[in-house]
This record gives sequence, C-alpha cells and structure tokens, in this order.
Amino acid sequence: MSFKKLGLTPVLLETIQKIGYTEPTSVQTQAIPAVLEGKDVMATAQTGTGKTAAYALPILQLLGKKEIKEGVKRPIRALILVPTRELASQVGKSIEAYGQDISLKICTVYGGVKFTPQVKKLESGVDILIATPGRLLEHIKQENVNLSKVEMVVFDEADRILDMGFWDEVENLLSLVPKKRQTLLFSVGLTKSVKRLSEISLSKPKKININNQGDFAQKVTQMIYVLDKNRKCELLSFMIGSQNWHQVLVFTKTKQSADEVGEYLEQSGLKTLVLHGDKAHSQRTKALKHFKDGSIRVLVATDIASRGLDIEELPHVINYELPGDAEDYVHRVGRTGRAGNTGTAISLVCKEEKSVLKDIEKILGYALKVEFYEGFETKEWIQKEAKKHTIKAKIERSKEKKAKKPANLKSVQKRKEYQERKDQKEKFMKNVQKEKRGKK
Ligand code: AMP
Repeated sequence: MSFKKLGLTPVLLETIQKIGYTEPTSVQTQAIPAVLEGKDVMATAQTGTGKTAAYALPILQLLGKKEIKEGVKRPIRALILVPTRELASQVGKSIEAYGQDISLKICTVYGGVKFTPQVKKLESGVDILIATPGRLLEHIKQENVNLSKVEMVVFDEADRILDMGFWDEVENLLSLVPKKRQTLLFSVGLTKSVKRLSEISLSKPKKININNQGDFAQKVTQMIYVLDKNRKCELLSFMIGSQNWHQVLVFTKTKQSADEVGEYLEQSGLKTLVLHGDKAHSQRTKALKHFKDGSIRVLVATDIASRGLDIEELPHVINYELPGDAEDYVHRVGRTGRAGNTGTAISLVCKEEKSVLKDIEKILGYALKVEFYEGFETKEWIQKEAKKHTIKAKIERSKEKKAKKPANLKSVQKRKEYQERKDQKEKFMKNVQKEKRGKK
C-alpha cells in the first residue's frame, strides 16, 4: 500500500516523502481514508504504530481545504487532547512537521510552563490546538480559549487521560465543543472508561484494532532477570557498563527510586539524568535533549516519560522495577523497536513483583522467559539449585556404588546350584512322563 492510495493531497504526499516515510503503517492505512470521509474513529493502537500521522495528516488536509478569511481571528477548529506534557510537545512537533507546507496555525498548551507565551499565541488565532486537559481548562476559565467552533476532536492515548483521573475534565470539555463534530479516539487499551467515553463521544465510529502484539514480540527481545531486590542497582550498572551500552532508558516505579537509581549510576561512572514529574519543565527538557544527542548514557524515568518520548532507534529499555499498572509495560517496552527497528527490553524482577509479571503476561497473551543473570541468582534459587544438586548427586553416588560393588560370590554359587537342581528336576520329570507314555 502506498500513501497515494489513501486519498491524501499532493502537498501532503510531498511532505511525507520529505520526512522519509515510504509506506503507511497499518493504523494509517485504516484511519486516514475513514477520517477523510468524515467518519468518527475508535482505534486501539499500541505506542509507536504511527498513530499521530494517522489522525494528523487527514486533519491537516480537511482543515487546509477550507478558505481562511484574511483579517479575521482564526477559531480553533481541531482540538487534540493528550495526557502528558511530553506527549503534547511530541505531537505538536510532529504536526508542525506534517503541516510544514500547509498554512495552518498550530499551538500546544500544557502545564508546568509560563502562561503568557501560550496566551499570546492563542490570542493570535489558532487552527489546531494540542493540549493537556488541566492547562486547557485553565485557559478556558481565563477566556483565552473558545471551543465553540471546533470541528474535530482527538483523544490521543485516551486510556491514559482517563487513568490520570481526568474524567470530569473530559466531560466538561465535551460539553464545550459543538455536538456536530468529528471525533477520533485513539487508545492503547480498551478499558471500561474508554468504552464509556466512546459511547458518549462517538457516533457510528470506524473501529480499528491494531493488535500488533505479534509484531511487538518479533521486534523487541524481551528478557526477564529474576534477582534479589537489593542487587538490582548493582546488576543494572554492571550490564550497562560491561556491555558498553549507550542510550539506555531505565524505568522505575516511583520518583524516589528514580532519584536513587540515578545517583547510583552516576556514582558508578555512568553519565545519567533523571526525568520525573517533580522535575521542573526546564530540567525535563534538558534531560531529554542530552539523552537524544547522546551526551548522557542513561536516562532514568518514571512512567510519565513512557508515553511522549520519541527517540529513533532507542536500543535498550530496562525496567528497573515493573510498573504498577501492567499495561504500562507495553508503553515502556514500546519505547524501543519503534517504526520497524529492533530493540531489547530487559526487566529486573524481584520476588515481590512476580504477580505483576503474571498480569503482564496476561496482557501480552504469552509467557515471558524468566532467566537468572550469572552471578546475580537469588538466594532462594541458589538454595533450590543446591537442593536439586544434592539429590542428583545422591542418585549418582548410589548408581556408582552399585556399579562398583564386587559380586557376592556366595550368592552366585547358590544361584548356580539352584539352577542345576531345577534343570535336573525338569529332566527327571520329562523321563518319567516318557516312560508312562511307553507303558501305555
Ligand atoms: P507515533 O506512534 O505517532 O508516536 O509514531 C512513532 C514513530 O514512527 C515516529 O518516530 C514517527 O515519526 C514514525 N512514523 C510514523 N509513521 C511512519 C511511517 N509511515 N513510516 C515510517 N515511520 C513512521
């Protein structure tokens, strides 16, 4: 399938070519024609499947077609809701790139940064607004944003938006956009709340399910090492150092452990930065920049970073701790093996995390191979192995003993005598029967 067959205009086809995409991904093949036809879309697509272009390209085409009146402030015609600042920034950049030859105004708003530059941009008129729910509502309150002319609404990573507790905000926003609109809902998982959102926001949607778990398994080598909790830092730094890995993304469950792991790695001589929700926006941007340009080797992050990060050819993702929510495993691991590349995802799992591992396997639909890293085997495992070894040794020893045992001469002699007597008896009986038959 080529992009040409999807109904995109020559301008967009040229941009796509400039960016370097040669073929549409599966979600793009299915979503682009549906959106261009004006349909609502309900898509479950994993991270890294090219879903941003799947909705952004047709939006740019549809909005770009309409004539823009000179001298009149542009109303917001497309609203794209995303869960995190990182994803907002990432989506904003992608749409700027896809729309580089179309004269539409794109604006991204999210929390943690100053209001004023965002207000100035909004005041100047915007066609496409990318926003996180919290900051968007603040702008609405301050009357910087008017959603009454919105024609298209996109929920990007809807499950995450709702998981973060934004249900009320989403309902509120839906009451502010016109009922007659086109809505596109993209979600990684099909949770109960996503289904509820689809019921209240979509009308006869085209359903797309990019179940690429098979591809995922093929592209990403997943390894699980079971070890004691207190040896995780040691193994982590040993693996990175001894194998000379660069650009390693390490995930932790909490901000505190992100800080601790970051400090440990830095002290062991690996250039590391930490990315989590308590870091100032400038620190987060700096961490990402340094990670992308290779000036640091390791980025330790909490799940907040697992969505919006887009680093081409990221070779290694390490789960220092499994995520609290099993679905986040897929997002984390999806940071590697993106857009056709291969990658390695390693999880360091301790005894306490075995139940989460089971949940992850349920979501993946297959069992993951659990291994021990040489030299980092758990005490429990060592004991088990020692026991197995002892039993095996015992069996072998008794086999050896039997083989070596000298034959008991007395019993051999006895057996021989018994056999001789038996043979004689049989012979005698045969003769007796012969004689009897002769007499007859
Ligand atoms: P997304 O799922 O939108 O975050 O995209 C994941 C990555 O795939 C990004 O780096 C995109 O630039 C890239 N991408 C999107 N569509 C294509 C395509 N058709 N061919 C190659 N790369 C793509």
